[in-house]
Amino acid sequence: MNGGLDLKSALVLGAGGFIGNHMVIRLKSEGYFVRGVDIKSPEYSNSSADEFIVGDLREIEVVKKSLDLSESFDEIYQFAADMGGAGFVFTGENDADIMHNSATINLNVLEELHKRNASHKENKTKVFYSSSACMYPEHNQLDPNNPICSEDSAYPANPDSEYGWEKLFSERLFLAYNRNHKIPVAIARYHNIYGPLGTWEGGREKAPAAICRKIAKVSADEGEIEVWGDGEQTRSFLYVDECIEATRRLMASNFQGPVNIGSEEMVTINQMVQIIARISGKNIKTAHKLDAPTGVRGRNSDNRLIREKLGWDFSMTLEEGLTKTFIWINEQNQLASLKI
Ligand code: NAD
Repeated sequence: MNGGLDLKSALVLGAGGFIGNHMVIRLKSEGYFVRGVDIKSPEYSNSSADEFIVGDLREIEVVKKSLDLSESFDEIYQFAADMGGAGFVFTGENDADIMHNSATINLNVLEELHKRNASHKENKTKVFYSSSACMYPEHNQLDPNNPICSEDSAYPANPDSEYGWEKLFSERLFLAYNRNHKIPVAIARYHNIYGPLGTWEGGREKAPAAICRKIAKVSADEGEIEVWGDGEQTRSFLYVDECIEATRRLMASNFQGPVNIGSEEMVTINQMVQIIARISGKNIKTAHKLDAPTGVRGRNSDNRLIREKLGWDFSMTLEEGLTKTFIWINEQNQLASLKI
């Protein structure tokens, strides 16, 4: 496969999605051989992967085919999940799919890797799992000004969504395969990752993309957009390039996690609206939809552990990251309106 050169190989599951697609780009720039797998191709760009399998990872045969490489993959990045923003995960309408589909993928990937390792008598493949801050207990995130999201606050568990419960289960699953079958694993808890090439319409988009889209669609110099909840709920948001950098550092280290990967620049959603309004040059008023799903009242990344273990911290301001994101979504919106 690599002509005798010491070329590293990676399998990226969920490579048609937002973070997976960015990870493929990064791994290619580092000279990896990359195979991507997803139920769909990336929506807004071609994949940079050397090979791309379109397949459903809930099916064992697709997982087997994905893992099949003569010398086994050095690394696997497991991003595939049934997920979306508040409109998808917090309404309750998609709970069975979220739990069943994401857990099935994780169960399949680990069991098939274990079987393959046993038959090849090896254990070289390290697996990254993308967990989420949504697994933190709701009762620690009631005060918007002082949410607690340190890694050791995970238990006693009490996530506010089934999405969070599935993430917690799967974290444990990855740790169990490490404990019993010695599969090397690394686990991160991502906190609201955003940036270009992410879903920006259709119902699965997250708050930064949704607000960028709403403001992009205001055709005059001023207008009003709908904001879910009273907008006083707090969050932090991490630009995707920084997420990829932290993930690569985690995989290169001996630290297993779970560890937060996020930004500590906490803002209210209303503040984020005003940042994006400023970037757009428009005067934006807000209409609050109080019965819309919003998730926990407050959340912020706690980066003490990742600073200590990996020497990594976020560095981009939210305004810088949102500027890049708004420019991209504004272009997408203009392209979409030309197609109509
Ligand atoms: P995404 O939805 O863009 O990517 C997930 C990909 O998984 C999608 O392309 C989807 O088609 C694919 N997928 C779903 N079911 C599949 C199946 N049965 N077979 C094959 N592929 C399937 O999401 P993302 O933002 O790129 O997130 C990647 C991972 O990071 C997810 O596991 C997510 O839960 C986690 N995460 C993301 C964030 C964030 O803010 N984006 C925060 C916390 C955790």
